[in-house]
Amino acid sequence: MNKLSKYTSLHVGGPATSIVHVTSESEIIAAIEGAGDSPILIIGGGTNVLISDSGFNGTVIHIANNSIESEIDACSGATLTIGAGENWDSFVSTSIARRFAGLETLSGIPGTVGAAPIQNIGAYGHEVSEFITRVRTYDRESKEIKTFTNAECEFSYRSSYFKAHPGRYVVLDVAFQLRIGESTTPITYLELAKKLEIEIGDKSSVVACRAAVLELRANKGMLLVAEDHDSWSAGSFFTNPIISQQAADELPNAAPKWPLTDGRVKVSAAWLIENSGIHKGDEIGGARISTKHVLALTNSGTATASDIAALAKHARDKVQSTFGITLVPEVNLIGIEI
Ligand SMILES: Cc1cc2nc3c(=O)[nH]c(=O)nc-3n(C[C@H](O)[C@H](O)[C@H](O)COP(=O)(O)OP(=O)(O)OC[C@H]3O[C@@H](n4cnc5c(N)ncnc54)[C@H](O)[C@@H]3O)c2cc1C
Repeated sequence: MNKLSKYTSLHVGGPATSIVHVTSESEIIAAIEGAGDSPILIIGGGTNVLISDSGFNGTVIHIANNSIESEIDACSGATLTIGAGENWDSFVSTSIARRFAGLETLSGIPGTVGAAPIQNIGAYGHEVSEFITRVRTYDRESKEIKTFTNAECEFSYRSSYFKAHPGRYVVLDVAFQLRIGESTTPITYLELAKKLEIEIGDKSSVVACRAAVLELRANKGMLLVAEDHDSWSAGSFFTNPIISQQAADELPNAAPKWPLTDGRVKVSAAWLIENSGIHKGDEIGGARISTKHVLALTNSGTATASDIAALAKHARDKVQSTFGITLVPEVNLIGIEI
C-alpha cells in the first residue's frame, strides 16, 4: 500500500496510485514524462504538506537527487550548486563546517534544498532568497529546462514565483552564494541576540549562532524528532498576516507588530491564535496544538488529516471572529480544505 503518511512529517495522508523515488535529474524528468496525463505531486521531505486521508489519485514523485558542486573564490566567496533532494539542514551543517557563512540562522529547518525556494524558507531574521543566485527547474508545460535568476524567482515573505505557479516548475538544483568566514552578519532577531548574550546589531560566530538557533528551535518543538509527537507537525501552520497600518492600530498594544517598508504591518499569527482563546495542548480528535508552540498543529499519534484540518479551521475561525483577521495556511493542502 502506497500510504503517503510514511512520507510526511505530520504522519497523515492516504494512498497514492504510485510513488516513484528519483535520485538523479534524468530520473526526475523521466518520471514526470512517464506519468503522462495522470496528476503529479512532487514531494521532498514532506514537511510542509497536509495530504488528505483519501490520498493522491496520481503519481507522487519523491525527489532524492543530492549532488553537491562547489566553486570557491577568495574574493567572491563560495558558489554551491545543490541537488533538489539534498537534506536542507545537512547542507547548512556542511557549509558551516567548510567555513561558509550565511545560512546559520536557517539551521534546523526540515525538508529538502529543492523545496527551500518554493516558500522562501526563513527564520530568525533571514530568508533563503538572500543567498540564492539561481534555481534550475524542469518546466512541465514547455517540457524544457528553465533557469531562474534570483530576481525572476520573485521571492517574497513565504512565497515565490514557483509558489504562485503551483505544480508547473520542478526544482532540479539550486545555486547559493555564501561568504567565506566564521562570523555572522549583525544579528537582527531579538530572541536570537538574547540567546547569544549579545546586543541586536552585534555579530557572533557562525558556529555559536547555529547552536543557539538549534536550541531555540528544540525548545519550540521546531526540530523534527522521531519520538517527540510535539514535533510531528508541518512547522508553522499559518503565515504571519500582513495587514494595513489602520488594521494593525486596532489590535491591542501587546500584539507584536513588524512594520514593513511598503507601509503595511506584519503581525504575529501565534499571538493572534493564543489571544483568541486557543491554548497549547488543545485537541480535536488526534490533532493537537503543540504544547511548546501554538502555531504548530501536531499529530498526537492517532490524528487523521481531517483532524488536523478541523483543528486548523477552528484556530482560523477563532482568530477571524476575535480579531477580524483571516489566517492563511503556510502548509500546502493536498486534496483537503480548511
Ligand atoms: C518542525 C518544522 C519546523 C519548520 N520550520 C520552518 C521554518 O522555520 N521556516 C520555514 O520557512 N519553514 C519551516 N518549516 C516548513 C518546511 O520545513 C519547509 O517549507 C521546507 O522547505 C519543506 O521542504 P520539504 O522538502 O519537506 O517540502 P515538501 O513538504 O515535500 O513540499 C512542500 C511544497 O514544495 C513542493 N516541492 C517540494 N520539492 C519540490 C521540488 N524539487 N520542485 C518543485 N516543488 C517542490 C511540493 O510539491 C509542496 O508543494 C518547518 C517544518 C517543520 C515540520
